[in-house]
Amino acid sequence: MYTRADILQLAKKQAIEYLRMTFTDLTGTLKNVEIPIELLDEALNNHIKIDGSSITGFTAIENSDMYLHPDLDSWTVYPWLTPAGKTAALICDVYNNDGTPFAGDPRGVLKHLVAQLADLGDGQLQVGAEMEYFLFKADENGKPTKILNDSGSYFDAFPSDACESCRRDTVNTLAKMGFHIEANHHEVAPGQCEIDFRYDDAVLTADRVQLLKLTTRTIAEKHGLCATFMPKPMTGVNGSGMHLNMSLFKDGQNLFDDPKASNGLSSTATAYLAGVLAHAQGFTALTNPTINSFKRLVAGYEAPTYVAWAMANRTALVRVPDGRGAATRLELRSGDTSANPYLAMAAVLAAGLAGLQHQLTPPANIEADIFKMTPVQRKAQHITELPRSLAQALVNLQNDPVLVAGLDGIVPKFVAYKQRELTDYQISVTDWENKTYFNV
Ligand code: GLU
Ligand code: MG
Ligand code: MG
Repeated sequence: MYTRADILQLAKKQAIEYLRMTFTDLTGTLKNVEIPIELLDEALNNHIKIDGSSITGFTAIENSDMYLHPDLDSWTVYPWLTPAGKTAALICDVYNNDGTPFAGDPRGVLKHLVAQLADLGDGQLQVGAEMEYFLFKADENGKPTKILNDSGSYFDAFPSDACESCRRDTVNTLAKMGFHIEANHHEVAPGQCEIDFRYDDAVLTADRVQLLKLTTRTIAEKHGLCATFMPKPMTGVNGSGMHLNMSLFKDGQNLFDDPKASNGLSSTATAYLAGVLAHAQGFTALTNPTINSFKRLVAGYEAPTYVAWAMANRTALVRVPDGRGAATRLELRSGDTSANPYLAMAAVLAAGLAGLQHQLTPPANIEADIFKMTPVQRKAQHITELPRSLAQALVNLQNDPVLVAGLDGIVPKFVAYKQRELTDYQISVTDWENKTYFNV
């Protein structure tokens, strides 16, 4: 826990010259403003102002002054900027000019739900995010080409894994910024990588997802590559997921763990799980918020398409991976790397909270391959299909009163923004159409 005095001292000791004040917009884009370190006092007094009317999902132009309130514990030095002026960053909460927290700040929305969980007596949401991405070669102008960096596959070693030196550089940089890296490896698709870091409080993990994306892109550029977190950049191979591993901790105890239960899951875990399943139709628009997201959520590429849970079966939406005690957790497999991590976690937490509040019971776990079942078999086991498109996902979100109420007024703004994206796509002619219909 840093104090103001600690930050002033750190800035001096680490010879920091510039400070980046960062926050995240409605769509999940990381934004920042740089100030010279001489203005650190101003920043710590919450005096750094932004024009909210130019930030997606923030305020209207008539009332656009907003203030950044830095989270002192987020102090991080950006290792890659060091030679050009040593730079540190602080992640900020966004406030209105009357001194109240801005309800549309995604980080604030997640914090609000985290506080509700604590009020209920159910501890702290812990989240571990598995981050997948692709590396493409850059052209002479540093722009992405369509050429993948290698043709490797799952867990390959050099030379099939030509991404390893870039990935090593990335994890080393993340470690310098305080990440506890647990694993990194080549993923199933050519040019695809994964980095896993240790789970932590939900807000900290969401902060780190944002920092990891920035770092991965920055380091890739230094290797003549372009990193993308687009969920499905290539047709015919796996896409990139952001699996979320969740548990609830209170006083050092994992509330999801019950050694006496036959499957090791406590009644808290099953009620939370039931809430997640009950609201999966609604939260998909936030865990999978792009048109491209739905090209990943198709059968055959290790991404789920049905709402069900399982112990081992990877075709289910939620899996309970091996490992009990502190490691007992629920792995939500649908989320992807285009999601705003704060809003994705907030939406899933709102779902889990509803499960806890109403003591919901999940349907039975499904250990058979769901893709091989007939529609009648699926129906008999209460297995529904995830939305197939962003348009459908947005309708489901609007129709879920628990999520609409739980997300502090974000849902109407989010839906309106995404509907404009859908309209834009609707009137765009794609390469596929030209190829398929040219000779009609
Ligand atoms: N890349 C897969 C996905 O789209 C996941 C692979 C894995 O299980 O790690 O979610
Ligand atoms: Mg993976
Ligand atoms: Mg996983």
